[in-house]
Order: sequence, then C-alpha cells, then structure tokens
Amino acid sequence: MSAFERDPDDVLAELEALLLADAPTHGGRVLSYVYDSGLPELDELAARAARLVQAVNGLDPTTFTSVAAMESAVVGFARRVFHGDAAEVGASEAGADDVVVGSVTSGGTESCLLAVKTARDVWRVARAGTTRTPRIVAPTTVHAAFHKAAHYFGLELDLVPVEPATGAPPPAAIEDRLGDDVALVVLSAPSYPFATLDPIADVAAITASRGIALHVDACIGGFALAFWPDDLPHWDFRVPGVTSLSADLHKYGYAPKGVSVLLTRGRDRQRHQYFATTDWPGYPVVNPTMAGSKPAGPLAAAWAITRVLGHDGFAELTSQAASATRELREVIDATEGLRIVGAPTGPLFAVAVDDRVPVDRRVDPHHWADAAREAGWHVQLQPGRIQSDGTRLPHTTHFTVTPVTDAVVGELAGALVDAAERVRGVPAVDGRELVAGLAAQLPGGSEALSAASAGIDSDGAAALLRAFGLLGGDGAGGAGGALPDRMAPVLALVEALPGPLTERLLIELLARVVEPRD
Ligand SMILES: *Cc1c(COP(=O)(O)O)cnc(C)c1O
Repeated sequence: MSAFERDPDDVLAELEALLLADAPTHGGRVLSYVYDSGLPELDELAARAARLVQAVNGLDPTTFTSVAAMESAVVGFARRVFHGDAAEVGASEAGADDVVVGSVTSGGTESCLLAVKTARDVWRVARAGTTRTPRIVAPTTVHAAFHKAAHYFGLELDLVPVEPATGAPPPAAIEDRLGDDVALVVLSAPSYPFATLDPIADVAAITASRGIALHVDACIGGFALAFWPDDLPHWDFRVPGVTSLSADLHKYGYAPKGVSVLLTRGRDRQRHQYFATTDWPGYPVVNPTMAGSKPAGPLAAAWAITRVLGHDGFAELTSQAASATRELREVIDATEGLRIVGAPTGPLFAVAVDDRVPVDRRVDPHHWADAAREAGWHVQLQPGRIQSDGTRLPHTTHFTVTPVTDAVVGELAGALVDAAERVRGVPAVDGRELVAGLAAQLPGGSEALSAASAGIDSDGAAALLRAFGLLGGDGAGGAGGALPDRMAPVLALVEALPGPLTERLLIELLARVVEPRD
C-alpha cells in the first residue's frame, strides 16, 4: 500500500521537461542571474552537501549544532577574505566595538534588509526611541534591495546622483546630504548597474568622523574583488569607517541560490540585527535573520565549497573571470558605436551607445542585446533614467562575466560583433512614440492611460498589459509566461511610462504568471 498517487520518475520527467524551457543555467550563455564556476564537480559537491542536511532546520542551531558549526566557519571565511580578522582591525586593543561578527542569510536582499534594520535600530536607540523618520543616503546606483529596505522598515531613501562619466558619486555630494537623521550611508563594491567601485575610503573618513554607519554592498562582486588580479583601493574592513558589509555566496561564491553573508563591525551593533521574543505561549524565538524555520542546504553547500576551493581556488576562478572580462571589454571597446560605461571594476560592466560617432554608425545597446539573444546569448537590458539633478544615465546592456565565460569567450565575442553589425544604425525604440501609439489604440485613448496612472485595479492592469501585447488572452504572460522575442520595446515602455504605472503593470504580469491555470 503506497501513499504515492504517481510514479516519482514520471513527476521528475515532468520537471525536466519544464526546465527545458528555462534559460540555460550552465555553459556561459546567460550573462546575468547565474554564476557558473565551469566546474561540474563543484556543483556536485554543493548538491551532496545540501542533500546531507535536507531535513535539518536552520531555525535552531542549539538543536542542530551542525548549523552553528557551518555558519561559524562560513562567517570566519568571509571575515578573513574581507580583512575583518581581529589582527587586521586591531580588535584586541579596541575591544568588542571593533570585532567583526556576522550571519549567513538567504541572499543579498536579506543581507541588505538586515543591514538597514540594524542601522535603523542603532540610530533609534541612540536617540532615545525617537519617532522621527531616519534616512538612508546612497548613490542612485545603489541596489534596489535598499529601496525595498526603506519601504519595509520605514526609512526615507535619499538618492545622490552619480557622475554619468564615471558612474561614481562625488564624496562631497554625499557629505552635503548628511545630518542627524541619517541612519546609514550605503556604497557599493561594485555597483550592479555600472560596476563602479564607489569612493569608499573617502566617504568612510567623512561618515566615521560624524559617527554615521556605512554599509558596503559587496553582494555581487565581493567574492570576486577580494581575489581580483589587479590592485584595487581598499573597500572592505581595512577601511576604518566601514560598519557592515554584505557579500553573496550564491554569486561569486558559486553556491546554489539562498546564501549570503552580512558582516558587522562591533558585537553591540550587530545585536540590533536580532529579533527575540518570549512573549507568547510557544518556544522562545531568537532570530538573527528574517525567516523562522529555514533550510540548511544553501549554507552547507557554501560551507563545502569554501572549504574545498580555499583561497587559491577562489583566486584561480576569479582569474578566469577577470581574463574573460578583459577580453570582452577589449572587443567591445574596439566595436564602433558602442562604449563601456564609466570605469568598471570586477567581472561586470555595462555598455551604452557611443554617440560620438555618426548616427548611422551607432549601435543601440538594446537592439544589440536582442540581436545577441537571437544568436543564443542572453545579456540583460537596463533602462536609462534621469537623475534628480537632471543628468541622464544612458540605457545600457549589462554583462556579468563568470569563470565559465572564459571557456566560450571567443564564440561570445564573435556573436557580439556580428550582432552589432546587424543592428548598426537602427535608431533606439522611441518610448514616447510607442506609448502614444498604444494609447491611441486603447478604448479610452490616451485619457485611459492617464486615468490608469492615477491607479488601476487588477483587471484594468491586465487589460493594459494585453493591449501592450505582454499578456496572453487567458491571463498567462506572453507565451506561457515567457518573455517576448524582443526586449528593446519593453524596456522603452519601462522608460516612457510613469514609474508607478510601470511598477503596477509589472506586479500584475508577475502575479498572473503564477495564478493557477485550472
Ligand atoms: C544581487 C545584488 C543584491 C541582492 O541580492 P539577491 O541575492 O538578488 O537578493 C544586492 N546588491 C547588489 C549590488 C547585487 O548585485
């Protein structure tokens, strides 16, 4: 007598069929979202480690002591990598205030959320429980996770324009925004959109002298920059004013999704990250992170990977990513009509149109990305935007280069050059024209669109998405949730429509994609 209604092999075959429709996670054809070491044996190691702890509950490291041992080791590894060891930060003289401690979290977003929550609570306590709204000061290039943190935890996010030429914020512009209501300044190492290594030491000197916390978001690049072959300015705990740092093990730590570290300088500061309550009839709750019950699998995978690779293994993988990055940047630099934005550091960069060449020689980066995708290479489109000082950040194509890229870099470079030739001289999609054209076809005309901007319900949003060709008639997104063939017009819509309307439409799209079909 079996409890099974279906044969497990059949169900797994069904899953394999579903996976065939995904973008490929291995082989270097997707240059965002996935971080492929190129070592199948490392993936196998991660899978075996995760399987061993499958039934363990990470909620309680006193019941499941393996979790405490692995977390301590992973935090220790990260602390060495980011120069937060006692000897390096002089903790023995300075006492508990300078000890770097940390937590393993479920990912970069959770690390960033917790860095903000911690800073907010430290700020509040120092002001005797004030009810004022605290502020985060950060460059416009700061990751969206900090927009989310401000939204979740009730802080104001004060965005400082970056210089379009460099992608970096001038330290003086950050200094101008500081005040008693600032709970946290955030800089990136490097930023996601343009891979800028923000001026961390310069800003830290300012924030430290005013007693303001400084978080370094090294979520994407931390585990690559730490092993980068070129000399870089200090950006980690070697910089005295850095109070916390986030780095994702599920990016350049090559672990499966669901693992990141948040390191904090000072035990007392870090204790504000925790939530504890005994004020209910159940078990006492003490959580350093957001979840209650949580998996130990991603932690175990990261633990195993860091132990097996060690410092030298990370350095070797990083050198492969660095070499592929150098080669791609050279090819793109030599391609008329395209240019690399700013001065990227690490294994990522963004590409914009080079408008110093005649119009008919220019390459629009979004048409270019669509052309590359036709050839099987997935690069990510980023919208342009106007900053609060009126300067314009161009629309770009983003590349995240991983060790496996090195194995396919010649093929990729050739495809990128071909793609540029195919779209050379084709003007960028005009978002405003596109919106006007679509609005004219709506039953209520352009007034329907203005009305929608003021607020729409779920059916209204779905109707607009259908009019824009982004939602199938049955409510499913596109072709069963897949992206449209060309992303350039979609990004042009994102740029041209009012932000709140775009956000509402995207919510509708993503919500409809997961609605049950039957
Ligand atoms: C990826 C990323 C994050 C958020 O990380 P998730 O793991 O996607 O939650 C935060 N900051 C930067 C710079 C990132 O690239």
